[in-house]
Amino acid sequence: MKDINKKNILFSDADGNFSVHTNEEVIASRLNNWKGWKCSAGVNNLHITADGNIYTGTCKVGGLKGNVFDSGVIFPEHWITCTKEWCMCAPEMQLLKSKDHKKVISYDELKNFSDVKVDPVWVGPVSVNKIKDYPLTITWDIGRRCNYQCSYCPPSTSNTFEVHKTYGSLKFGVDNIHKNFCRDKKASWIFTGGEPTINPSYLEIVKLLHNDLHHLVHTQSNGSREGNYYSELINYSSIGFSVHLEQFNQKKFLEACQAIAIKKESLEENMRQNFSIRIMVPPNELPKAIELKNDILKLTSAHQINSVNLAPLYQKNNGEELMDYSQEEINSIVNS
Ligand code: SF4
Ligand code: SF4
Repeated sequence: MKDINKKNILFSDADGNFSVHTNEEVIASRLNNWKGWKCSAGVNNLHITADGNIYTGTCKVGGLKGNVFDSGVIFPEHWITCTKEWCMCAPEMQLLKSKDHKKVISYDELKNFSDVKVDPVWVGPVSVNKIKDYPLTITWDIGRRCNYQCSYCPPSTSNTFEVHKTYGSLKFGVDNIHKNFCRDKKASWIFTGGEPTINPSYLEIVKLLHNDLHHLVHTQSNGSREGNYYSELINYSSIGFSVHLEQFNQKKFLEACQAIAIKKESLEENMRQNFSIRIMVPPNELPKAIELKNDILKLTSAHQINSVNLAPLYQKNNGEELMDYSQEEINSIVNS
């Protein structure tokens, strides 16, 4: 069997034959079309925008459900029918989905692994533990404020001036979701931005979720902070870096990666959070991205980095269309 550790999306046919794929592979190979399928977004997943608006997912299928900073939000109880051509958000691609809503095979029933894509009737995460231990996902764009200004990033996603939300506001939102959406279930909370770590209250909110409420936290960062910040954060949160080649400082970035890897090495194995890196590759920048990947893999304790993948970028004004890549570039990115 192929190494399936990096793979996070599972496709199964009705007989339990299954194949597994990376997010990048699914997007670049256009396997992410589930229009007309039933999807658990809203029941197993929420997306909260930078303004606190609550949707079933970043796709906004099913419409607005309320605002995280208000009480009295009514959370969905039924799966929705997907109306989108493409499912574009990595955590949402991994949500349970079913072609006819009649059959979602249990993971115990999966039988034969296939090296090539099976024709799926349901899709879900590769990790069985994710379903059992942390069945819910909340993706929260905690604010638009970012210290970078990537040329391909739309102003609806980031700016350099938005006021940071206070600890009090964020705690109200966390308590609201914990009590009224999670109820007794555990959730994976995925924070993005803008750049989430530049909010001065971010670390305290992560500690609240991890230490007091016992949820799982993942931080998606551009990797621009000092190593000592990330080596504290990794105690409470998984970390995913999205590297933006036109903005980043390579020396500082590698030092941050090194600090996390060394910190992970010093922790008990069961305390080690996931640390993954995604190098965003603009057209014609593949050699630079491959060189950076090789430099990352040479770091001390690099084996503590769970994955280093290359990823394509989307057009600034059309988040469903990739930038202009040659087929050769796309193949190299997907197979990196
Ligand atoms: S776009 Fe994705 S998350 Fe949204 S409804 Fe469709 S399959 Fe579900
Ligand atoms: S780091 Fe991310 S959020 Fe910030 S400008 Fe770049 S793409 Fe946008």
